[in-house]
Amino acid sequence: MAIAQLEGRRIQIRGTVQGVGFRPWVYRIAHSAGVTGRVCNDSAGVTIEAFGDGAALERFAEALKFPPPAARILACQSAAIDPEPAAVFEIVHSEAAADRRVSIPPDLATCPDCLREIFDPANRRHRYAFTNCTNCGPRFTIAEDIPYDRATTTMASFAMCPECRREYEDATDRRFHAQPNACPTCGPRLTLHGAGGEAIASLDPIADAAGAIRRGRIVALKGIGGFHLACDATSEEAVRRLRARKHREEKPFAVMVRTLEDAEAIGVVGPAERELLTSIERPIVLLRKHAAACTPPLAAAVAPRNQNVGVMLAYSPLHHLLLADAGVPLVMTSANLTDEPIAYQNDEALRRLVGIADLFLLHDRAIVTRCDDSVAAVVAGAGLVVRRSRGYVPRASRIARGFARPVLACGALLKNTFCIGAGDQAWLGPHIGDLDNLESFESYRQAIARMERFLEVRPQVIAYDMHPEYLSTRYAQRRSEATKIAVQHHHAHVVSVMAEHGIDGPAIGIAYDGTGYGTDGTLWGGEILVATAATFRRAATFRPLRLVGGDRAIREPWRIALALVADAFNGQIPDVVRWMLQSVDAREFALVEQLLTREFPAPRARGVGRYFDAFGALFLSRPRASFEGQIALEWNQVADPAVTRAYRFDIADAAECPEIDLRPALRDALRDREANQGAGAIAAAFHNTIAEATAAVVRRVVSRHGALPVVASGGCFQNARLAEELVARLGPEHDVRLPREVPAGDGGIALGQAVIADALTRT
Ligand code: ZN
Ligand code: ZN
Ligand code: FE
Repeated sequence: MAIAQLEGRRIQIRGTVQGVGFRPWVYRIAHSAGVTGRVCNDSAGVTIEAFGDGAALERFAEALKFPPPAARILACQSAAIDPEPAAVFEIVHSEAAADRRVSIPPDLATCPDCLREIFDPANRRHRYAFTNCTNCGPRFTIAEDIPYDRATTTMASFAMCPECRREYEDATDRRFHAQPNACPTCGPRLTLHGAGGEAIASLDPIADAAGAIRRGRIVALKGIGGFHLACDATSEEAVRRLRARKHREEKPFAVMVRTLEDAEAIGVVGPAERELLTSIERPIVLLRKHAAACTPPLAAAVAPRNQNVGVMLAYSPLHHLLLADAGVPLVMTSANLTDEPIAYQNDEALRRLVGIADLFLLHDRAIVTRCDDSVAAVVAGAGLVVRRSRGYVPRASRIARGFARPVLACGALLKNTFCIGAGDQAWLGPHIGDLDNLESFESYRQAIARMERFLEVRPQVIAYDMHPEYLSTRYAQRRSEATKIAVQHHHAHVVSVMAEHGIDGPAIGIAYDGTGYGTDGTLWGGEILVATAATFRRAATFRPLRLVGGDRAIREPWRIALALVADAFNGQIPDVVRWMLQSVDAREFALVEQLLTREFPAPRARGVGRYFDAFGALFLSRPRASFEGQIALEWNQVADPAVTRAYRFDIADAAECPEIDLRPALRDALRDREANQGAGAIAAAFHNTIAEATAAVVRRVVSRHGALPVVASGGCFQNARLAEELVARLGPEHDVRLPREVPAGDGGIALGQAVIADALTRT
């Protein structure tokens, strides 16, 4: 019998592999595969040296393909090394050599093992709201410094009891080096407080909070990345009260449920939705509501006038226990007043949420970095991250071309995130929100400073939006670094998707959104570019619409509708349009009409989002929006999926580049309306028209420059109908890429800014 030859392999793995139970997992599979050697963290991730016969190494390599759920492997390299007669497989501690930059993972949703324990009456962690292990629990939000270690988290003040310490030190235990490890004896505790902040004695704060929710009360509870306001999502009265107290008219609330089945009862869950809902990041997933109400039915006030509802699965033990006790789906919305950042500290919450919450469920594990819930949708069969925050941050994206010098990109205005790029990685920061108030700005500055410290990056290049008045621009201008690069908004949108997909360019970039600073004195937002990281040229844009009243026109899209109608009918307003907009105050209507017939100064906007606003306001007879993008969203949702025809459009030559002209489409749509076509058919034809016009420009570019990859970005591509229609109309002969993990909206723009600034400053 031949003796099997001893062989050696060095396997280097990069990605999110630290702080997620990766080494104990390698240890276990090494044992079961029968290989010896060692595993350690190093500067890039994890390095394994494995020894055994060929078959054992083969088994080991096979098992490595199925890493623990929280790990994210970006690259894996394997090379033969000289075999060593090692007796065992061991975890080698080499924290000193570890790259501190890769040490903090995102927050991880509660794992099935921990879940079993908290519902097991015999377990010492029964009903313990802070249960976690190497596979789950808070990470980024409790980290105060690097390297990620208990002493540098807000768990430092909790001394582990002997039992927890034993778990923590045992390499075969699920809690080996689980930094936030805790139990009821030694860990954080919940407390209950009344509406005025007064402590309420309670033997079981979770059960008491759940009881209050069942009685229609609003509870503020401290979660992972901040406070939520929770109420019974099936109670019309409770949800309405929450809206009134939060001053949030119609913007939808997210709903949290315990299980996938509970989510399926509320909305349509296909394979891609299921994957997102159950992913370790646990985003809010936009689901289409079932035609028939679920049982118990969700209150209509959760997502009024909306065919979708945002649903997420519980992601912390506290959520699981609260939902189990409440027995109903819960509204879980960020605890803030409209536009302010989410509350994340106890005293702050008690102060800011006075008058909103009836009850406070607090605890003594501090949150360091606020992190809102992430939001995702399914577009063209796969997930697209709409808001990238908790669960995703601070995971890095790999940027193939790398950064010559460290870059800080400051983002835009709405839904701001920032981005730091260094080496061959880029990190998007947490969702800051709309950078239009002091609180958000303060949160932004703090988050940038903390991220620079965590990553040990000192930026040398600062990238920012060309818009001179964004707070992010002012922030950039005040930074002391010498090199500052202003980046055009839509160029940044396009390059963010190129970077995500590793496309160097040139590429055809379609950037459709509401607004962004243009270089020709108009507001851009309907741009088709031929772009590289360093350059762009506009292949086409949309004919601009006049915004009478500036920002007011965005809140009152009937003004934009009227501007489009006046443009399409030589200043005349057809009677049918007067009738469709009859709910508008007659004096205001007359004033805007008068202004439109004259030459007067008004901002001119090319945003495709504005065309959605205009058509939606007109054909849905919805003159006003109660939140940004509401009318566009409704216009999208009514589109009849069965309608395939498109309206006419022109592509007209204009001074700088060709303009897509939708005036013929408007005239067609009004004719449809007079022929009693419903809004669903008109909305569908409208979507098809935009897709068809876009495809026509793309074909034109390709006929001149040859085949180029096509990328689409901007908030309009969160709209599944538009994205899918464009992909379908371009057909398989075009390589069309959509944003996936980098938001299509302005939350993804910072990545593009960083890559562009790098390209422009390379020597
Ligand atoms: Zn766990
Ligand atoms: Zn303990
Ligand atoms: Fe934008």
